Amino acid sequence: MRLAMSIFAISLSGWCAAAPTSLINATLYDGTGAPAIENAVVIIDQGKLQCVGTDCRVPEKSEVIDLKGQYITPGLVDAHVHYAANGSFGTRALTSPDPEKYDLDKIQRDLKSNYWRWDRAYLCSGVTAVLDAGGFPWTLDLQSSSITSPDRPHYVSAGPLITHTRSEMSTSVLEKQKALGTSEFLPMHSDKAAVDAVKQLAESGAFAVKVWYIKPEEKFRADLQKRMKLIGDEATAHGLPLIVHATHLEGAKAAMKAGAKVLVHSINHEEVDEEFLRLAKDNEVIYEPTMAGGELWAAGDARLFFGEKPEFDDPNASIDERTRNLMESEFQELHPIARKEQSFEWITGGLIHMGEHASIMERNLRKVHEYGIPVATSTDAGNPFAFHGPTIYTEMERMERAGITPADIIVMSTQNGARAMGQLDRFGTLEKGKNADLVILKEDPGKSTKAFRSITHVMRLGKLHDVAELGGGDRASGS
Ligand SMILES: [Zn+2]
Repeated sequence: MRLAMSIFAISLSGWCAAAPTSLINATLYDGTGAPAIENAVVIIDQGKLQCVGTDCRVPEKSEVIDLKGQYITPGLVDAHVHYAANGSFGTRALTSPDPEKYDLDKIQRDLKSNYWRWDRAYLCSGVTAVLDAGGFPWTLDLQSSSITSPDRPHYVSAGPLITHTRSEMSTSVLEKQKALGTSEFLPMHSDKAAVDAVKQLAESGAFAVKVWYIKPEEKFRADLQKRMKLIGDEATAHGLPLIVHATHLEGAKAAMKAGAKVLVHSINHEEVDEEFLRLAKDNEVIYEPTMAGGELWAAGDARLFFGEKPEFDDPNASIDERTRNLMESEFQELHPIARKEQSFEWITGGLIHMGEHASIMERNLRKVHEYGIPVATSTDAGNPFAFHGPTIYTEMERMERAGITPADIIVMSTQNGARAMGQLDRFGTLEKGKNADLVILKEDPGKSTKAFRSITHVMRLGKLHDVAELGGGDRASGS
């Protein structure tokens, strides 16, 4: 029997159909960049897409959901997040106005036992897959259960970051991490240390090898670049992709020469040149602009300094109550210290600096895109003021502001993210056999990326979640 029903007429919370589900009459963007399909039919069975298009026969015994006037895209992919960080200064303690005040052990224990808050925030924002680009080793344990869970986004983690920058960090923060017996960093101070770090990541189940490559002093550069190549070769030997944080041109080129497959940030100090573009193209590199984070951070610093409250741009109430409270109390506590330690010039200088970076990042994004290099949407969420979940809307809007069309941004936020995660055979586009991971929107995302703020439902592995029920602070279950 064919059962026509309005999506709003049934309670969809925790709803998971045993019978096939048929979504009919929506306008569908399949994530490949193909034109929108009007009056599309999507047949879902056992968590997978059985048919997508206009030639699908609705099965006799299926639940039919009429989505006339609404839109469907694949579930969004955020290709750069950090589950071991909560959007406050506490998880980037060295950047806080008061770096000594944090109990890192307590913060990490809390994050580890409450990671479901980020899971829920992502689903609530329409994000059905995330790439954790580095953090404490416990994040590696979150991966396997996510693959088959309709209540979690698909999650992969790079685990601890390999980096040369330890000497630049606050000693006290490093001492605290050492005392924990666990660290989010692995060293590359010698060739052996670098190779051992990759072996350790491979053994512990990291999905990728991440190098945190901050512009080194000239005298160290040649050695470090050679070592990055060793890391790349060892990663390849273990079948792991190399992903690199390098925001300066020379470092990013060195990363690509070492075999990097994903650059997790824009080049933000200078314009990319022909050599950069060719290296990226030849090595099939995925470029992640990660544009919004820096601006959000500088604006947050300014709010703190001027004694305002933290700002949450969160249309679906994805951000949980505890995170909001933590930010508010941190603001109260740190405001007097910020007034003492920082200056008006420092704050405004930060904002001007970010504005300059933004215009370089926008130019570079256009150049990279026009050259045909795949771009994946990414937020760096977990860093101060980049909250898990809704920051993806801000990021997509920054990409649109840079001149990328909404249609291209859909591909960057779905297919290309899945590619960065090495999961394009599982999700990222709406094609037969792939996961039934998708979002339903009231407005047309082909016209403006702002439409993603109108997501009403998210489907993960065939289970339809109503974002109004997922959101709303800590009311929903999950603990
Ligand atoms: Zn990051």
